[in-house]
Amino acid sequence: MKPAPFDYSAPGCVADALALLADLGPEGKVLAGGQSLVPMLNMRLAAPGHLVDINGLGAELGGIDAGDAGVRVGALARHCAVERSAAVAAVLPLLGQALAHVAHPVIRNRGTVVGSLAHADPSAELPAVLCLLGGSVQVATVDGERTVAAMDLFAGPMETSLRPAELITSAWFPALPEGTATAFVEVARRRGDYAICGVAVAVTRDAAGAVTNARAAYLSVSDTPLVLDLTEVLLSRPAPGDRIVAAGRLAAARVTPDADIHASADYRRHLAGVLTERALRKAVA
Ligand code: FAD
Repeated sequence: MKPAPFDYSAPGCVADALALLADLGPEGKVLAGGQSLVPMLNMRLAAPGHLVDINGLGAELGGIDAGDAGVRVGALARHCAVERSAAVAAVLPLLGQALAHVAHPVIRNRGTVVGSLAHADPSAELPAVLCLLGGSVQVATVDGERTVAAMDLFAGPMETSLRPAELITSAWFPALPEGTATAFVEVARRRGDYAICGVAVAVTRDAAGAVTNARAAYLSVSDTPLVLDLTEVLLSRPAPGDRIVAAGRLAAARVTPDADIHASADYRRHLAGVLTERALRKAVA
């Protein structure tokens, strides 16, 4: 199919993009990598009046800044650049662990991390990672900037709390405390497909090896990413194997998936339990 007609602008700087978005209001739509938006236009699931292409703003929005406190990813940083960054891997291996599951290399060459967050697909990997880490996005308009916490950003399937004319300029993925191990696992029908269920875990242990904090974030089992605190259940059993099984059971009981053409709700719930166990074993190995 072909998209509904739209106007197109490619501003040369962020200030011009913000001015244009302010003029356009709800009719304006940001175009980043186009890996989600263009299919939606072609299928006429979206029909914005005017696309504001930010691909010319790489000098201002393309940065990836990894430091001890975390990783800031500019709105035009492509998935592949973040995935391949040694500096990112050193600070937050979880980002690379998750990005390896995002679509295929060709899509990761073009799609952006921030675009994936703005798209807010409940089956996407990066919103779950942002929520697990307690990250945020930096949002700009002509009137100024604001920071939106991950848990306030995702409002529903393909829905965020962003207002018309707002541009996300970067995403902030905070580093995890020392002694934290992470893992990301998912099940998809084929490699590169959206996950039927996926889970990211972060397990922090003290110098003696005792768990002090454990959290998991789930995709494809709720309208927005679900974060569970598994600390208590991982502390509540004497044997490490029992604890992990108990954590899987807790996850299966807490998720509230829907059925669709890809999987029943029961199968997704089962996966949430199995994948929680698998991710925890991987993280603590
Ligand atoms: P675009 O498509 O350009 O935009 C997506 C949405 O975000 C639009 O609404 C746009 O207006 C908005 N937006 C983009 N940037 C900004 C900004 N800076 N400020 C405000 N709004 C903004 N994704 C996964 O997570 N997991 C998968 O397994 C997966 N599989 C895929 C398989 C296929 C075959 C395809 C085509 C895509 C798949 N994707 C998957 C989607 C892909 O990861 C996209 O790259 C990503 O979702 C969107 O990034 P983008 O830069 O292409 O954004």
